Amino acid sequence: MERNQGANLDRIECDVLVVGGGINGAGIARDAAGRGLRVVLCEKDDLGAHTSSASSKLIHGGLRYLEHHAFALVRKALIERELLLRSAPHIMWPLRFVMPHDAGARPAWLIRAGLFLYDRLARREFLPGSHGVDLRRHPAGAPLKDGFARGFEYSDGWVDDARLVVLAALDAREHGARVFTRTRCGDLQRHAQHWSTTLTGADGRQTQVVARCLVNATGPWAERFLQGASGAPAHALQPSLQPSSQPSSQPSLRLIKGSHIVVKRLFAHPFAYIFQNTDGRIVFAMPYEGEFTLIGTTDQDYQGTLDDVAISDAEVAYLCQLSNRYFRQPIGAADVVWSYSGVRPLVEDAAASAQAASRDFRLVHDCLGAPMLTVFGGKITTFRKLAEEALNWIGPLLGNRNGAWTANACLPGGDLFGAMPSKRGVLEFDLWVASMQQRYKALPPALVRRYARTYGTRITAMLGECSTLSGLGPEIVAGLYAAEVSYLITHEWAVSAADILWRRSKLGLHLPAGSAATLDAWIAARPSKTATKCIVRADGSYSAHSTVIADLAAGRTDLAPSPGDNAEAQLHRI
Ligand SMILES: Cc1cc2nc3c(=O)[nH]c(=O)nc-3n(C[C@H](O)[C@H](O)[C@H](O)COP(=O)(O)OP(=O)(O)OC[C@H]3O[C@@H](n4cnc5c(N)ncnc54)[C@H](O)[C@@H]3O)c2cc1C
Repeated sequence: MERNQGANLDRIECDVLVVGGGINGAGIARDAAGRGLRVVLCEKDDLGAHTSSASSKLIHGGLRYLEHHAFALVRKALIERELLLRSAPHIMWPLRFVMPHDAGARPAWLIRAGLFLYDRLARREFLPGSHGVDLRRHPAGAPLKDGFARGFEYSDGWVDDARLVVLAALDAREHGARVFTRTRCGDLQRHAQHWSTTLTGADGRQTQVVARCLVNATGPWAERFLQGASGAPAHALQPSLQPSSQPSSQPSLRLIKGSHIVVKRLFAHPFAYIFQNTDGRIVFAMPYEGEFTLIGTTDQDYQGTLDDVAISDAEVAYLCQLSNRYFRQPIGAADVVWSYSGVRPLVEDAAASAQAASRDFRLVHDCLGAPMLTVFGGKITTFRKLAEEALNWIGPLLGNRNGAWTANACLPGGDLFGAMPSKRGVLEFDLWVASMQQRYKALPPALVRRYARTYGTRITAMLGECSTLSGLGPEIVAGLYAAEVSYLITHEWAVSAADILWRRSKLGLHLPAGSAATLDAWIAARPSKTATKCIVRADGSYSAHSTVIADLAAGRTDLAPSPGDNAEAQLHRI
């Protein structure tokens, strides 16, 4: 962790300070570090803890934005679609959507025209195009109610949104960026040539950062951050010097809450659905984590707290009702096994409805003193492009002439068939997984498949020399072994069970109640680099060395650490 790297961390000088570890902040930090700039990224919670892990998880152009004539946005996102899929085929993959059609929906000719455009607005190399389907014969027709005889099929992409953020941050770090999680940025001061600020960690430790440029990538917090709501006095952000250039005009944010529900799976085939509600809204129902169906999203203007956003009963009822309009198997609130909500930070464009508000991004920058850039709006799908545009402004300002590079780069673990992104990674992913299952044949194939999906080629770093199940250490909760938890803590900034069960993975969905507490207890007792002993008792509980010694003295355990065992050896031995 960055905090362990040395005493001089109390003051850091850098070129770019990026505030906000959602997808946009992580993407900007990655691009900037890859151009050779000295970068600090700080996130007040976990990476991707907010909007960026609460999306519909689609790498998509946004078919429905066509009816708002957002052609430029749809084209920009469609160009990114295949490019992103190639760069990280372990966490993103093509998804075929089926749109059932009935009399209450938009007219068939309009949908056909929209799909015709959607197929052609950007070049497709490997995603198949759209066509009409007969739902009486199509596998996606079977779970639907009678009356849906016709429909359409088209392509988009799926992404593990929370892992995408972590991979972008990882890439940033591997290009030299310093990444601080659970670290809030406040007390900002703008000077002629630099910014100064204090970063405060969860443990209260403070670090002074002096940066030549500030990036405000705080998503839904962007306006509050500008107003000094994040601890900085409002005047701190006012230019204290004569303007050297005028700011680009500043929009305001429209905050829109969107929620999803997860239910036991309503269908077993691999297609996703796009449903049209009678109120004109679009809702997706997608295969999720093997055993589940993900249904969302709602769209509501939002003024509440940003730190703890939750679904309302009315949203649950809305999504269940819509699902029941299409699927034979009815669902109600009692069937919801999990839900999540996020707040979209959209650029206020005076659109009448939340659905009609533009999903495009705006980068607002000024040089009224040291440069500052604020991100307004955006989509997961366009994060790479957004970061590239941000750096095309920041780089030259800081005297950095290194050009854009991310269009031809894999994200960590995405280099399945060589260093360059390739469609092979997408099209031959299962073959690659089979090769990993062969390589780690002492491990259960389903476990290797999960590791391959999660870590891509980093599976080798995660497993290290562990080639047997016992080599992974104890199974802390079902399907989660010590080796993986240690890797996530050491390499991916995980510090809690929630980080591991709900963002680095979605194992939380598959585990019984109480699993998070067990994992948190294991993490708390986990041997760090300084505590060399850890013991697993016969009942599955864990202790660090000192507690074990006390327990032994009190006759509370029959397991003694062997003299000379280091932590890993101790775990493996037991
Ligand atoms: C319901 C829903 C569905 C969506 N579906 C899709 C989709 O399918 N496809 C798609 O492409 N896009 C989708 N989006 C849009 C996408 O999720 C967002 O555009 C994107 O995640 C925004 O990322 P961000 O980095 O700007 O914000 P965030 O992810 O919110 O990150 C901002 C971060 O800044 C941190 N922060 C704030 N203040 C401070 C401070 N003072 N110091 C340090 N850190 C701070 C916060 O903790 C937060 O983690 C969806 C959005 C929603 C809400």
